[in-house]
Amino acid sequence: MKGLKVLFLFFSLIVVIFLYIFNIHGDISSNVHKGIKLPIISTASSEVSVHFLKTGYISVPEAFSIAQGSLFDKFEMVHGAILVQHGSESFLFDTGLGKKIDEQFEVDMPFWLKPFMSYEKDKAAVDIINKNSNLLIPSRIFLSHSHWDHASGLVDFPNAKIWISAQEHDYLQSAKPPSVFPSQVKSHIIQWQSYQLNNGSYAGFSKSYDIFGDGTAVIVDLSGHSAGSVGLFVDDKKGIRRFFVGDAVWNLDAVKNLKRKSWAASLILDHDEQATDNTIAKLHALMNANPELIIIPAHDLSTWQ
Ligand SMILES: [Zn+2]
Repeated sequence: MKGLKVLFLFFSLIVVIFLYIFNIHGDISSNVHKGIKLPIISTASSEVSVHFLKTGYISVPEAFSIAQGSLFDKFEMVHGAILVQHGSESFLFDTGLGKKIDEQFEVDMPFWLKPFMSYEKDKAAVDIINKNSNLLIPSRIFLSHSHWDHASGLVDFPNAKIWISAQEHDYLQSAKPPSVFPSQVKSHIIQWQSYQLNNGSYAGFSKSYDIFGDGTAVIVDLSGHSAGSVGLFVDDKKGIRRFFVGDAVWNLDAVKNLKRKSWAASLILDHDEQATDNTIAKLHALMNANPELIIIPAHDLSTWQ
């Protein structure tokens, strides 16, 4: 009987600690940025289409994705790759989970984090593209950042050039698990290319890189979650403008309500908390100034449209 009481007290204590951790507020100040109205969509976007490739998913408590989220509501967390086609060219923005994800995860994810970082596999991006004649095999892959759930499929595309920002390239030299997996990024078959964001300011972001030189696909600096994280604006032929923001936030509600990720996720995975906060405040201001803009965090399945 005494043993049962001790066990009950132990589990009660665990629940209290758990609730406390997920209730740390994670509020961000919004008073530093003013949103900028985006330019009109260029006519060159008539050549552009966007395709969402679902490579994996997991259903988690909302509290895992956002500070002060619910412990009982679910957040549908997706691992995806975005294929952007522009005329006869295409590129991927992130790869999601690749064909070798299980081996990579087994080798490089620390054992104590494995239960918290688990995933369900869907189809790898390379398989989805190869099986669909409407999709073009990408000649380039741009990474929002180099974390394992975004870079897993790089080795599935040995003929593509892999483009990352110069800051992310530097970050890669010292980054380690649980964020970056050597089994993914140290492969000799990867053809790395780094670039500078030297096309001037765009949408209130001081640095940008215009992929096609016609304003249809523009990369901007979203550093914070990793040292060289970037986001991607894409205008498509339906007149839709999307902004893929990588892992600046996991849950779009974090942009709406100025919140960090959950305390533990921020602590373990955000490289620079202050820079991440600053990026979220910029996204919040941009959202308010451009209500028609579709902001898409890499893992928020509810924003895929
Ligand atoms: Zn991620």
